[in-house]
Amino acid sequence: MYKIMTPGPTQVLEQVRAARSRVCTNPDLDEDFFEFYRETCALISSLLHTKNETLILGGEGILGLESACASLTEPGDKVLVLDNGVFGKGFADFVTLYGGIADVYHADDRQTLDVDALAKFLESSHDYKYATVVHCDTPSGMLNDVSRICPLLKQYGILTVVDSVSAMFGEPMDVDAYQIDLLCGGSQKAVSAPAGLAFVVISEAYKTAMKNRKTPIASFYANLNLFATYYEDQWFPYTMPISDIYGLRAAFDCIAADENMLNRHKIIGESTRETLSESGLKLHQQSGFSNTVTVFDVPQGTDGKRILDEMKEKYNIMLAGSFDELSGKVIRIGHMGANATVSNMIETLGALDAVLRGMGVMLRVPLDVRFLELVKQKSK
Ligand SMILES: *Cc1c(COP(=O)(O)O)cnc(C)c1O
Repeated sequence: MYKIMTPGPTQVLEQVRAARSRVCTNPDLDEDFFEFYRETCALISSLLHTKNETLILGGEGILGLESACASLTEPGDKVLVLDNGVFGKGFADFVTLYGGIADVYHADDRQTLDVDALAKFLESSHDYKYATVVHCDTPSGMLNDVSRICPLLKQYGILTVVDSVSAMFGEPMDVDAYQIDLLCGGSQKAVSAPAGLAFVVISEAYKTAMKNRKTPIASFYANLNLFATYYEDQWFPYTMPISDIYGLRAAFDCIAADENMLNRHKIIGESTRETLSESGLKLHQQSGFSNTVTVFDVPQGTDGKRILDEMKEKYNIMLAGSFDELSGKVIRIGHMGANATVSNMIETLGALDAVLRGMGVMLRVPLDVRFLELVKQKSK
């Protein structure tokens, strides 16, 4: 068994694993399960600072992204796709799959999205039904300021769809203040439940747009409108994965009880980035650093796959490379959710220090020692 320090899936706490072994009922017929589901959804909404309705979907994080586009897009609809990363660009596929016209706004993939430049663009082009934006684009670790981007889009009446799967609970998220019409989350990132569930948080404006469609939603599994009266009718569109939802609830109970969660992510994120920079390693990005994941370039003269293999074989720790154009070029450390503890990071950085030095990389500071010093300074 490896210690997983990847940017999702993350480590799963024992309380969550235990909750998944609870005795099962028939979730289609047991009214107690409908109560439990609704209560869990309400807990998620409250942790995201909104009364907007949350729905837990029986499918991986991607199902939330696809449902968001499937339920809103009608043939010919124009959609603004904000792209400075792999997931950002990927939304264009969902939009076109459901007949929409994706207008991809390409931005520098090394920089957080420039909100002033977007404001300029919108002055002359704002005829969009909705826009998609990724909060943390995990393959590069790019953090976008959705607290400014979404209100700007809403000034033009553009509905906002945000993928915060790998940011929420490690980075601040306030659905109402940020004016997010549909927020996508997943079980396997900072929430720290196993992979398998998505959830979406839906505004009244999104629901209205969905109800006012002239054409039917071209999907069953990704049709969010089918949940409109699930509670009143005591009917789910498909059987809910009950054990997964028991586990998810336990994970959210842990988050609700953890008052220091955001601050811990901030201290760990900053200390990790400062340590790597001081050591001479190069952070992949120039701006837009997420406190959930740190991404650094594979040092010259070494090999990304060998670094990952040695971390696993010698130290039992799993880090991640990346994909698409970043494949083989960067290493990612996922310090989100249950991964984000000082002791996990000291163990990880100590091993990384040894692996890199073993490959001839001259680090200017001992990674684990320097990290702990910085954490102590910032915790004062
Ligand atoms: C992990 C992740 C998802 C969900 O992807 P899966 O393949 O279902 O895990 C969606 N968006 C982002 C930004 C993610 O990091």
